[in-house]
Amino acid sequence: MYQWKWLQKLTFLLIITGCHSDTSELTGPKHFANDTIRIAEADPQFWLTHGGNYEEQRFSALNKINKENITELSLAWYFDFDTHRGQESTPLMVDGIIYVTSAWSKVFALSAETGEEIWKFDPQVPGKAAANACCDAVNRGAAYYAGKIFIGTLDGRLIALDAHSGKVVWSVITVDQSKPYTITGAPRAAKGKVFIGNGGAEFGVRGYVSAYDTESGNLAWRFYTVPGDPNNGPDGAASDEVLEEKARPTWHGRAFLDYGGGGGTVWDTIVYDPELDQLYIGTGNGSPWNRQFRSEDKGDNLFLSSIVALNPDNGAYLWHYQETPGETWDYTATQQITLATITIDGLVRKTLIHAPKNGFFYVIDRQSGELISAEKFFPANWASHIDKETGRPVETEGARFRKAPFISTIGGGGAHSWQPMSYSPITGLVYIPTQQLPFVYEKDRRFKYRPGEWNTGVNLFGGLLPQDPAERAAIAEGMGGDLLAWDPINQEPRWRVSHGQPWNGGTLATAGGLVFQGLANRTFRAYDAYNGDLLWQYATQDAIITAPITFSLDEEQYIAVTVGNGGGVPLTLPTFSNIPATPNGRLLAFKLNGTASLPKVTAQKKPPIRIANFLNNEQRAEGFRLYTENCSRCHAVEILTSGVLPDLRRSDFLSDPQLWYSVVSEGALEDKGMIGFRDKLAAEQVEMIRGYVVHEANILAEQR
Ligand code: CA
Repeated sequence: MYQWKWLQKLTFLLIITGCHSDTSELTGPKHFANDTIRIAEADPQFWLTHGGNYEEQRFSALNKINKENITELSLAWYFDFDTHRGQESTPLMVDGIIYVTSAWSKVFALSAETGEEIWKFDPQVPGKAAANACCDAVNRGAAYYAGKIFIGTLDGRLIALDAHSGKVVWSVITVDQSKPYTITGAPRAAKGKVFIGNGGAEFGVRGYVSAYDTESGNLAWRFYTVPGDPNNGPDGAASDEVLEEKARPTWHGRAFLDYGGGGGTVWDTIVYDPELDQLYIGTGNGSPWNRQFRSEDKGDNLFLSSIVALNPDNGAYLWHYQETPGETWDYTATQQITLATITIDGLVRKTLIHAPKNGFFYVIDRQSGELISAEKFFPANWASHIDKETGRPVETEGARFRKAPFISTIGGGGAHSWQPMSYSPITGLVYIPTQQLPFVYEKDRRFKYRPGEWNTGVNLFGGLLPQDPAERAAIAEGMGGDLLAWDPINQEPRWRVSHGQPWNGGTLATAGGLVFQGLANRTFRAYDAYNGDLLWQYATQDAIITAPITFSLDEEQYIAVTVGNGGGVPLTLPTFSNIPATPNGRLLAFKLNGTASLPKVTAQKKPPIRIANFLNNEQRAEGFRLYTENCSRCHAVEILTSGVLPDLRRSDFLSDPQLWYSVVSEGALEDKGMIGFRDKLAAEQVEMIRGYVVHEANILAEQR
């Protein structure tokens, strides 16, 4: 499918892995004061939790917008955010108010009818917190419970806001802020508790999930997903016993302890099951990624890349299923968990369905944790199949890249990442945003743990992009993304739409026979849920990376989605085409015969800076190396930026060595997330990076 040389070049490209209390005063059901989410089942007019309801099916029973009238869907209103960073939020709609989060962990309460701002909350996340985020200063949403809105912030706080006023009710720090933890995921709330995890496994942290009392903010329990340092004794946490009994024997040596804590972060999915009264968490990759450096290349390393079921009241372990034992590829199991009751072989099964990064679709009995079935939803080549007897993958020869690089059809970006999927109980299909981001895994033979830096043990920066335009085009072609309709009972595809590029948005399925998805190509689309026919689309001026929601107000159904490119892939991956400038992020709301329209895009790209090259070839090569190691994970490989973060070739700072130094070394733009590299780079290295960027700016100018 791809030639080896291109794949070899891809080695360093894909660094992805991987952000009303008083119901009385408002119209709306009084029962919101209690367990609000249950009513979402019977009353689909709201969107009360991250996945629409506790089952997180992202399916709505609303059908006023349907296959017959979809062509009349048009913009009802839009709301402008104040940032160009990625918009990964799934909004909530409670009682006529939309609660949407934005990059930098900000929260906005808007009228669901008009988009008018009711209040906003800015937690004042320090800009430097972005340096601890693998994948942009994003936030994936808030939780609503009993009159409060809960938000996790990039710097590790969990904040409860009065849903009516936006005022802080309580705020707690959930992580050791001296370590590279971040929160980008949405909290979940149930049974008087709010549950929150964290990220940071690219850098080196120890994963856990915490439960806080929704009223007081007191810590109720904590569950660590990997064992701690035995020299420090037990954690005094809900996980103490099971970690010693089940997890400790699956880890070897103490490198994982010395390298930050082993990973297994719970950075996205956390799902409460009201039927069985269980809480499910999906855990992340190992840190470092490469097990050879983490655990003497031995052991399953529980509970990495696993689904773990817990008692929501006290955090006690119930069962686990490890999807990728001995994880070594950044194959997280943090992707969305969906609960579905389906009939398999004549038996009604309460299942948990899951399409994680590793390319297998899992159907699990969520009472027992037993694997019912697992088949490839993507042509994964790291494992041939899942052994039904043992529940374990059968890995392919060489997949662990011990002696030679392994050309994998799936990289750390995953065959499916955090972008939510949906499940329609009507069609019985799961709508998965899949992606094609191949990767060459190669052991980093010079690996040395560097606190606060990416520590993967994989050679991410091993090669150079080819200069030949045809070869570059071929690399772009090797990437892709599909909307896949998957039959979870027969474990086979039903239909598929190819979008031609990766990093498309998540999906929403409705009783109107529709599947909605926003795309990287700057359109928002509706497909026929039965056959994938494209029925409607709208030009959104920027990429959509997250999933839409739907709700109704006064008998009118709305579809809403946040727009704004960002996240891991767009920051790092080179963009070969010349893409136009985009507006700041937005929330768009659509209804039948809406009359709003988006303003014309007025933002213009600045021209490249033109000053004379001042480095010789050798110095420029060193400048390139330094740029690649220090700058490319945010400003893109070869500065071929998608435009989320500034294109350094067009930056005014480039023409003045003093200004450049003040930013790159001294951190003059730290409040925007650009930390100073004074401790990492000498002055002459900073200048060499400038020289490399000047060189690239001149090339760009000549191309124009
Ligand atoms: Ca990761």
